[in-house]
Amino acid sequence: MRIDLHTHSTASDGTDSPQALMAEAVAAGLDVVALTDHDTTAGWETASAALPTGLTLVRGAELSGRWYGGEPTVGLHLLAYLFDPGYGPLVAELAEVRRSREHRAEGMVALLNADGIDVTVTEIREHAAGGTVGRPHLAQALIRRGLVATVDEAFTPEWLGSRYRLAKTDIDVFTALRLVNEAGGVSVLAHPRAARRGHIVPDTLIAELAAAGLWGIEADHMDHPVADRAHARDLARDLGLRVTGSSDYHGTNKTVRLGAFTTDPLVYEDMVSTATGTAPLAGP
Ligand code: AMP
Ligand code: ZN
Ligand code: FE
Ligand code: FE
Repeated sequence: MRIDLHTHSTASDGTDSPQALMAEAVAAGLDVVALTDHDTTAGWETASAALPTGLTLVRGAELSGRWYGGEPTVGLHLLAYLFDPGYGPLVAELAEVRRSREHRAEGMVALLNADGIDVTVTEIREHAAGGTVGRPHLAQALIRRGLVATVDEAFTPEWLGSRYRLAKTDIDVFTALRLVNEAGGVSVLAHPRAARRGHIVPDTLIAELAAAGLWGIEADHMDHPVADRAHARDLARDLGLRVTGSSDYHGTNKTVRLGAFTTDPLVYEDMVSTATGTAPLAGP
């Protein structure tokens, strides 16, 4: 069984539509794929309707979280799986983050404009096509202008990595955890050791998250140095957390392939028997 629990579609900053992503998942030899777009469940319906034979879909989302308990605050991504997408308090938090992402994109466009770079908010909106707006959408605009060659280059400090980067309002991570659990889902801390992305989550904070109901940690991820994958595993064992591995596929917005990292079937079965919000969906 090949299981990839972290992918993005055009419902956020991936480049495959949810339908195309399901077909790609089969082509990549996956048996189970989770759709985890940033701060939205908008792709669930189209992905579900397009499920090929032999593929099981785990409906999820990647929440933009932040720990506000210290200085500096810590940004982190929380993968939420199999939760009830109609749970009002969670729906409201996700809508708020998406609004904040749109405001941020407007601000970043203004910063670029001030330096004579003529990207427009309309263009970014058109390319996001109703999906959650993210920096990769701005990266694509810079590529179309010939200002950078790749999305990776657009994420360097000279561009969207720092100079033209603005903060967004994220969900308090303890609130996010509570809401996902209340909605019958399970939470996995995404890429906690992704230093390159400014996403190193201190072990002490992970211990607090575990005590507050975190279910697992994503250990095997492209942005984790090999030693950090082992560190995440050891920490998970000490804290009684499960360990996942996944690609964080974004279509052509990232170089990683679907199924580049996978999750142990026993961990997946544990997830399915724990969650109560929504069931995995098997293709016809
Ligand atoms: P945002 O959520 O708008 O802050 O943008 C961050 C998103 O861009 C994350 O989902 C990352 O997967 C993606 N991202 C971050 N760094 C890179 C990079 N160097 N190349 C491609 N995508 C990236
Ligand atoms: Zn992304
Ligand atoms: Fe992430
Ligand atoms: Fe992701």
